[in-house]
Parts: sequence; C-alpha cells; structure tokens
Amino acid sequence: MLRLAAYAGPPQRKGKIMAESIGHQVTARPVSRAPQGSVTSQGTLAVYEPGSGKLLGEVRVATAAQVRETVQAARAAQPEWARKSFAARREVLLRFKDLLLDRAAEFCDHLTRENGKTRNESLFMEVLPVADAAHYYGNHAQKLLREEKISLHLFPHKKSYLRRHPRGIIGIISPWNYPFSIPAADAIAALMAGNAVVVKPSEFTPIILEKTRALFEEAGLPRGLFGVVQGKGDVGAELIRSGINMVIFTGSVVTGRKVNVAAAEQMIPCVLELGGKDPAIVLADADVESAARKIAWGAFANSGQTCASVERVYVHESIAKPFTEKVTELARKLRQGEPNQHEVDVGAMTTQAQVEIVKRHLDEARQRGAKVLVGGEITVTPEGARFVQPTVLVGTTQDMAIVREETFGPMLPIMTFKSEDEAIKLANDSSYGLSAYVFTKDRAKADRIANQLIAGTVMHNDTLYTHAATETPWGGVKSSGLGRVHGKHGIQDLCEVRHVNLERIDFPAFWYYPYSRKAWATGLRVYRTMLGKGFGRLKALFGRY
Ligand code: NDP
Repeated sequence: MLRLAAYAGPPQRKGKIMAESIGHQVTARPVSRAPQGSVTSQGTLAVYEPGSGKLLGEVRVATAAQVRETVQAARAAQPEWARKSFAARREVLLRFKDLLLDRAAEFCDHLTRENGKTRNESLFMEVLPVADAAHYYGNHAQKLLREEKISLHLFPHKKSYLRRHPRGIIGIISPWNYPFSIPAADAIAALMAGNAVVVKPSEFTPIILEKTRALFEEAGLPRGLFGVVQGKGDVGAELIRSGINMVIFTGSVVTGRKVNVAAAEQMIPCVLELGGKDPAIVLADADVESAARKIAWGAFANSGQTCASVERVYVHESIAKPFTEKVTELARKLRQGEPNQHEVDVGAMTTQAQVEIVKRHLDEARQRGAKVLVGGEITVTPEGARFVQPTVLVGTTQDMAIVREETFGPMLPIMTFKSEDEAIKLANDSSYGLSAYVFTKDRAKADRIANQLIAGTVMHNDTLYTHAATETPWGGVKSSGLGRVHGKHGIQDLCEVRHVNLERIDFPAFWYYPYSRKAWATGLRVYRTMLGKGFGRLKALFGRY
C-alpha cells in the first residue's frame, strides 16, 4: 500500500527507456520521456499510468488529412449499415457485449492502468455500463425509434407520420475521466440508430478506444463505422470541421463553448455534457449512516473525478455532528494506493493539471479558515504517480473556490443549513446544474424538493449511479450543458426527424387559388368553429375526428 507523503510539487521527468508497452499502435522502442499529454517528436502521444508513472504506450496522432480520411471511410460505410434491419445491427452489438463481458478482466486491467481508477471502479463504472448500453439499445432501439402517427385536428383528410432517420456520422469527443463508458455508450446508441461514429479520445487516455475499435471489429462491425482519431484539441476541432453530421462533446465548460461555436459554424447539432458542482442536501430526518456511506462514495469514487461527484454537502444543523463524524470515519478507513489491486478503494489522479486545481482549491480553503477533518495530503512520486487523499472539510463558505468551482478531486466540503428553503437556495446557488442529491426518509418531501432543484438529474437517497442506468436521460442545465445522452431522448437525438404527410382524401380546401372574400370568411368561420369550445365538446363526445 502506498504511503502518502506531503506534496512535493510536480514530478521531475527524466529521459527514460520505455519499460512496457501494450495495446494498439504502441511501440516498444526507447523514447525520451515526453510530458503526459504532449505530442512526442515522433508524432505520438505518450501515455503514462497515473497509479505508477510508468509508460503504458503510445498512439499515433492523426493529421488533418487522416481525420478527413477517417470521416470519409465512415461516410462510405454508413449507408449500407443504415439499410440493415435493427435485428442485424442488434446481433453485432450483442456480440460486442458478450465479448466485452468475456474480456472484462482484461479491459478493467487496462482501464485501471490508463486512467488510474480502481479495478472495481473500472468494472462498475466503465465496463458493465457499456455492456448494459449494448444490451439496452440492442434490444430497445427499434421500439424507441419507431414511427409515430400524429393526429391532425384541423386536417382530417391527411395523415402525418414522424420517422427517424440516422443523421449520418456522429463525432464523439470524449474526456479522460471515463475514457470508455462515456464514448462507448454514446457510440452504441449512435450505431444502433444506423449512424457511423468517429471518436476523438482525450489525449491523456487514448489507448482504450483503440481496444474498443478492435473489439467492435471482432464483433462483426463493418470497417469504417467506428473510427478513432487520436490527438489533442486541434484534432477534435478538425473533426468538427470534417463533414460530420452531429457532435457529442463531453468535457469542460471552456472547451464546450468552443465546440458549440464550431458546431454552429458547420450548422450541425451538438450535445454538450460539461462540468458539475453537484450538491447533496441531507435533511434532518435522513438516515445518517446510509447518507454518509452514499455521499462518501459519491464524493471519492474515481478520486472525485466524476462530473456528477458530490462536491458540496448541506446538512441540517441538527444532524451535522453525527453525519460529519460518520463521513470522516468512512474517509479515514478508505485504502488508497496503486489502483491495480482489488483491495484499494481510492486510486490515482489521472492528470497533473487536475492535481494542481485540487491543490489550489484546498490551499485557498485552508487559508480562509476551513478545517480539514481528514485527508488533505497530496503525493506525487518522482516516477509521476499522483494521489490526493480523500478529504473532508468543514468551515467552508459559498464564496470559496472549493464550493463554487468544479474541483474534480476527492474533496468534500460540509456546510449546514437551518431550513429546507435555505438548503434549496444554497444548492441552486451555482453556475452548474448537472445532478443534485436529496437525503430524507420522506419520499414525498424528496419529490417536492426535486421540483425545486435546478439540475438535469435529482436522486433521492443516492448518488452518481444513474449514469449507468442506460434507460434514463443524462445531461445538465446552466453551464453543465445542452441536450441529453442515454435513454429514449439520447437515441432519438441521434436521428433526423422526418415528417411525412400523406393524403387520405383530395379535399378542395378554401385556402387554394383563386382567393376571394368568400373563402376568407369561410376560413375564419371554420377556424372559429373548430377552435371553439363547442367543437371541443363534440370532439370529446366522438373521441377523435
Ligand atoms: P476538456 O474540455 O479539456 O477536453 C475534452 C475533449 O475535448 C478532449 O478530448 C480534448 O482533447 C478535446 N478538445 C480540446 N479542445 C478542443 C477543441 N477546440 N475542439 C474540439 N475538441 C477539443 O475536458 P477534460 O478531458 O479535462 O474532461 C474533464 C471535464 O469533463 C470536466 O469538466 C468534467 O466535469 C467533464 N465531464 C462531464 C461529464 C458529463 O456527463 N456532463 C462526464 C464526464 C466529464 P485533449 O484532451 O486531447 O485536449
């Protein structure tokens, strides 16, 4: 188990012979050690294990021409895929699911090494949700995308249908915190809807999507339908300009704004899944033990690097003491260390930049009088492994960075409230609105509060988990984003809606030529009748007309 020492500043990187290499596009030749996330002189991204600092491998950065070639290959493969029946597409996706479950240990091992999360988190938060997305969309896409009939209350001589057609190519730009479950679940929905996909992974965690592409191909997905373009932000920007039909972006608010503008320039729709500063409200009647356990998990899982992490707690003053003591006790017991062992609860921080943000928030909170009850230490080893201890703080205030800005690390500031209204006001006092959590034994009260919290998802007596409930929509309001992924809404958005209006009877309506005073008066009379109360009663009597 790793012993945590005081933070020693960013690691000093030295030139080094590459010790290990696995996965696709990975070389085993000596390279001088480039900083994490930078492009090497050989035109590759070097990927390091956050839990050990060891070099994991390299991927080749795509040129602008290669981005366009990947998009063209997707364009060439997509029409035939779209013509296939749902059953044929389902067969491929379900085979993908079976292969993934067979290789769960291999994928978890890789994810743990590439991202730094623990083995259990790799299974429960990455591999199993992707398997479920393939199962859910494989079995339900046809029903979710089925044709809908629209009754025309003014034009009964016509029939209207709403049909969903695949958009074409969905570009997916993904972050490093869930490098598999976020892009793979979105890709599965897109593929089941008949689209092709081109993904740009984060520069910090690019290898997993090379493995994903290989697994899709092994499952029988025709070549070109799941393209991967590697590189930094400029490759993501190039992807948006390369002729795709929609972009799903998951990442920071700053980049999300740029993506929104770039998509507008191309006149393509975009879904933005951005950051969060999610609050948990613990009411006086909450089960303290259970709330503490779930909030500790919601705050510290994946080392707090989850968009929906609990990043601030408001607890009723009457139970603040036992609740805080319980959370502190739980945090103290968490085992932190190199994540590739089952008996580790908290893994590593994926990027050095995120460690710096966490440190800034923690330092400012301490300087302004907040008290660290447990944790508070940051370790970066000379090899480049990086860990932040699960930390519980009290004495924080609404104006501190640790309460206002996204920290994205295992930090849990606990504050108190006196009344329900005050708790709601404090929870809503944020530029973000991804998820919010309410803890109470009274479900009706939770439901009532849920209606007043400004967030994309509100959970009662739980945290985080609904991202893995594929049938529920995921997305935020305010700066947390636009649009939804997952569920019915997610897959329907991946299609263009086509309205088809068919004739039942050739009716000589009054609005055609030649225009006349009589037609004008008839039109007005007909509308007055049909939009009037009497007609509504008649309609109710006959059901429909
Ligand atoms: P970034 O915004 O830094 O990057 C996201 C992706 O966008 C990366 O692949 C990045 O490439 C790419 N990118 C960067 N610049 C551009 C550009 N100009 N055009 C197109 N693409 C670009 O986010 P992080 O990777 O740091 O992810 C962490 C953030 O993601 C957090 O704020 C977190 O809250 C949010 N998030 C939101 C979720 C949600 O569902 N709402 C879920 C998970 C995370 P590169 O990395 O190579 O620079």
